[in-house]
Amino acid sequence: MLEYVIVKISTDDGIIGIGESVSDIGFFGETLEEVKMAIDRYLGPRLIGLDPFDREQILYQLDFRGNSCARSGIDMAVHDLIGKALGTPVSNLIGGRCRERIEVALEIGGDARELTDMCEKYMAQGVRAFKPKIGGYPDEDALKLKAIRETVGRDVKIRADANQGYTPKEAIRLCRLAEKYDVGLELLEQPVGYLDLKGMAEVRSAVDVLIEADESGYCIQDAMNIIRQGAADVINIKLEKVGGLYNAKKMAALAEAAGLQCVVGTAFGLGNTVAAKLHLAASTMIIADAVELTELRLHDNLLAEPYDKLFRLPLKDGCLEVPRGPGLGVTLDEEKVDRYISTIID
Ligand SMILES: [Mg+2]
Repeated sequence: MLEYVIVKISTDDGIIGIGESVSDIGFFGETLEEVKMAIDRYLGPRLIGLDPFDREQILYQLDFRGNSCARSGIDMAVHDLIGKALGTPVSNLIGGRCRERIEVALEIGGDARELTDMCEKYMAQGVRAFKPKIGGYPDEDALKLKAIRETVGRDVKIRADANQGYTPKEAIRLCRLAEKYDVGLELLEQPVGYLDLKGMAEVRSAVDVLIEADESGYCIQDAMNIIRQGAADVINIKLEKVGGLYNAKKMAALAEAAGLQCVVGTAFGLGNTVAAKLHLAASTMIIADAVELTELRLHDNLLAEPYDKLFRLPLKDGCLEVPRGPGLGVTLDEEKVDRYISTIID
C-alpha cells in the first residue's frame, strides 16, 4: 500500500515550503506512523529557528541512521521554501538546467502477456521507456524481455529490475540470454542481494549489460562502496533513499567522478515529488534521459492547475516539462488533499 506524509515548513515571513514523504515498509522499512512521528517529534523540532538557506547545517541536524523518507520530505520542503523566497525554480538552486523536458519511464510487472499488453496500452499514451520487474527465473524472464522487445520495436527503451531476485550465476545467465535474444537492455537493476556487492561486481564483469545498483545504494557512503568494489555501472538515485535533493546531488557527483551513470528511480509521489525529480534530472548532466515516474499510471496527483493535468498520462512526446515557477513550481490542491487525509489511531 502506498501512503504519504505531506511536509510543510513555514518561516516567520509566512513562506511555506511543501515536500512529501512516502512510506513503504516493503522497500524502505518505514511505516506511515514512523515517518510522521520521526518528523513531528524528532526531526522537525531540530529545525526550528534555523535559516532554511543553511542546507548543510540542516542536513547535519538530520544526519541520523534511517528515516531517509522522513528526511527526504523535509529536504524537499526546504528546497521549495528557498525557491519561493528567491522567486526561482528549485533547478536553479541545484545546478540550473541542461534540459527542459524529461522523458518518462514506467515500471510494469506481470506475465509475458500482461507485460506486452501494458506496453501497448502505455505506448498509445506516449510512453517510450519501460522497466519490467523480473527475477527468479532467468529463462522465463529472458523470454518476457524478448516478447516486450518484439512488441515495442527498436525505438523504445527497456530496462529491467530484478529487485535482488537472482544469484550471480542466474543474473549472468539472464544477461546472456537477453543478449542472445537481442533485447537491447539499457540496464539490469539490482540483480543480486543488496549487501552482496561482490556478487554485483561478478555479474558486472561477466556481461556487457550495464548493471545498476538500487537497493545497494541508499546513502552517499553506499555509493562510495559500490564505486570502490566496482559493483555497478549505474546508480539508481531515489530522493527517499538518499534523504532528499541535497544528498542526491552529492551522490550524483560521486558517480560522475567515478565515471558512472545515474538513473532517477521511482518511490512514488503525489505531485511534489514528481516536480522534485524533474528539477533533479534537469539540473544533472549524468542522469539518464528517462526518469522513472510509475505513479503516473498508479494514481492521481494532488496538485492544482495546471499540473493536475500536466503530470498525468497521456504524455506529449513521452516527456514531462520541468516546472518554471518558484520553488518546486507546483501547488497542492488543498481541497483534494482534505479528501484523502487519514487519522493515525494508536
Ligand atoms: Mg529497483
